[in-house]
Amino acid sequence: MRENDSVTEIKGVGGKRAQMLEAVGISTVGDMLRFFPRDYTDYSKPVPISELMPEDTAVFRGTVMKKLHPYISPKYSIFKVTVSDGTDIMLITFFNSKYSYDRMAEGKDFLFSGKIKGTILAKECSSPLFISADDKNILVPKYHLTEGLSANMIASYVKNAFADCVVIDPLPEDIREKYDLIGYKDALRSVHFPDSHESLEKGRRRLAFEELLTLQLGLRLMKSRNKKTTPVKMSDASLDDFFAGLKFKPTNAQTRSINECIADMKSGSPMCRLLQGDVGSGKTLVAAALCCFAAKNGCQSALMAPTEVLAKQHYETLSSFLETVGISVALLTGSTVKKPVYAAIANGDAQVVVGTHALIQSGVEFHKLGLVITDEQQRFGVRQRTVLSAKGTAPHTLVMSATPIPRTLAFAIYGDLDVSVLDEMPKGRIPIKTYGVDTSYRERIFRFIIKYIKNGFQAYIVCPFVEKSEAMNDKQSASEYFEALKQTWFSDIPIGLLHGKMKQAEKDRTMTEFKNGSIKLLVATTVIEVGIDVPNAVIMVIENAEQFGLSQLHQLRGRVGRGSEQSHCILITDSKSEYTKARVDTMVRTTDGFEIANEDLKLRGPGNFFGAAQHGLPAMKIADINSDVLTLHETGQLAEDILSADPKLTEPGHAGLRRLVAGLFRDREIFGVN
Ligand code: ADP
Ligand code: MG
Repeated sequence: MRENDSVTEIKGVGGKRAQMLEAVGISTVGDMLRFFPRDYTDYSKPVPISELMPEDTAVFRGTVMKKLHPYISPKYSIFKVTVSDGTDIMLITFFNSKYSYDRMAEGKDFLFSGKIKGTILAKECSSPLFISADDKNILVPKYHLTEGLSANMIASYVKNAFADCVVIDPLPEDIREKYDLIGYKDALRSVHFPDSHESLEKGRRRLAFEELLTLQLGLRLMKSRNKKTTPVKMSDASLDDFFAGLKFKPTNAQTRSINECIADMKSGSPMCRLLQGDVGSGKTLVAAALCCFAAKNGCQSALMAPTEVLAKQHYETLSSFLETVGISVALLTGSTVKKPVYAAIANGDAQVVVGTHALIQSGVEFHKLGLVITDEQQRFGVRQRTVLSAKGTAPHTLVMSATPIPRTLAFAIYGDLDVSVLDEMPKGRIPIKTYGVDTSYRERIFRFIIKYIKNGFQAYIVCPFVEKSEAMNDKQSASEYFEALKQTWFSDIPIGLLHGKMKQAEKDRTMTEFKNGSIKLLVATTVIEVGIDVPNAVIMVIENAEQFGLSQLHQLRGRVGRGSEQSHCILITDSKSEYTKARVDTMVRTTDGFEIANEDLKLRGPGNFFGAAQHGLPAMKIADINSDVLTLHETGQLAEDILSADPKLTEPGHAGLRRLVAGLFRDREIFGVN
């Protein structure tokens, strides 16, 4: 059996199971072997039963004392046994699992993992996972499962695939030696069937290395492919009239970024650049200057935003910047009347087109598209960028991102892009005042909000959840909280609700009403995070602030402080944890997005600084871009070295790497036509 063979070759996998596996992305034997556990149950440190408390999730050891008489009905059956580790007794219940009950022979030792119920005096545990106490594999994998696939099934498929498949190590031997990485088969074994923490870590390190190397190679191959195409030719054009028309002086960072982009656009190879700048740093002005430059070179520009409201906002801002120089701007969203706009785009009358996903629809044809800009790139994958770019012959591309990323990471993550940074705020901005308080301040805060609203300003209240669910206990849900506020404190104030479960059109409507001022107070979940500009909103209250990461708090705060009035951000939390305190303190201390990003990375450690979805990269199966930062750098350097010797990975020794890259990006064209 080979890695490329269909999963149905694996013993035990029939047609129906194969379909279920397909649904989780497993179609070949190799996919099965690379379906890595998401976590492990660690049986290595059992806790004495006497120390367990109800509601703990824990591992404990127990000898079966007594099997109670089972209750069996036609619909269900209940099996109970008591176990003891000498410190206390635990009552264990299995529902509908005669198999488990049968394994519980009196006098035998087991390790159990589960949630403790009952009382301190009479402890219970229902349907625990368990292994025999003399089992050597004390780390038991947990897999991402779907309906119909159990952990045991997956484990047995992996086992069978592992036994029968001839695997070929994709990493060349010299690389393995140089970086002290174990072989592929050993790594797979350690990750799926670990016998110690050390061997698991060795296996994980090797596979994470391989995965990040694949990512780094892929990004660099894309960049060099993009660079090799011949772009629309652009030559020097004066932007003096554009700058003369502005109401303010561009910051040095804006001027520098504009110059970097223009240098790219004249260079003879396509621009592929990331423009990074904190909220409010003035990215739209840079975009406008470049659209102007493109127009003067006879080229159209397209700017794609993730939502209709943002597209409209950009449309308005760009129009105001560009109309003084006589450049026409068109808007294309889902609700635009298509025909006339399509025509203006096709005949070149629309020099700049701002839009949503509607821009990448097949009906849209440009006269001569020379520049593609995407905003808030985390919402668009690498692929969507490519689709829009394909509408021109190798247009220049600029990706704008408001997520400040520590400099050390930016290059590694955006390996397919050059980076410009707006590290300077426009002058005259009044820094937002930030406060951290507990819930006893709520009434005072509400009065504060009312005072501002009565004076014509607007406010946001953010809370983390959409609907009340059991898991969140007494935490405020957005909808309930909204109703409560509407009926009490804010009964005579126009108040709106915005959350992720609403339809996009509803969200757009509410956001528009807030923008034009007919809603004064907006109660929202984090859906307001991205890019919206309402200068009249001057208060941001964040409830349950402990629920948000530092970068997220910073993004939320960036929704205020956009006008000429002093803005306030109030973080409410009753949490006493050190981590919460550190986050609140950082927020109070600084408004510098880069400083906050660095702090966030430090605080979270091996957590989730970036979700894969956020930066539009292919999802990582085993590597963690945060905790594997060193490996990220190492593999970046290695990828450079490999590609400088073998630019398209065509050497026989690199066949394995080539296969991995094509697989990760699901894009064979990444290697260009050769
Ligand atoms: P972001 O980078 O968050 O997208 P915007 O482009 O929306 O920021 O700019 C935020 C605000 O700052 C806008 O109202 C814009 O007109 C204004 N602005 C941009 N550049 C400058 C500048 N150099 N001086 C003063 N105001 C500026
Ligand atoms: Mg913006």
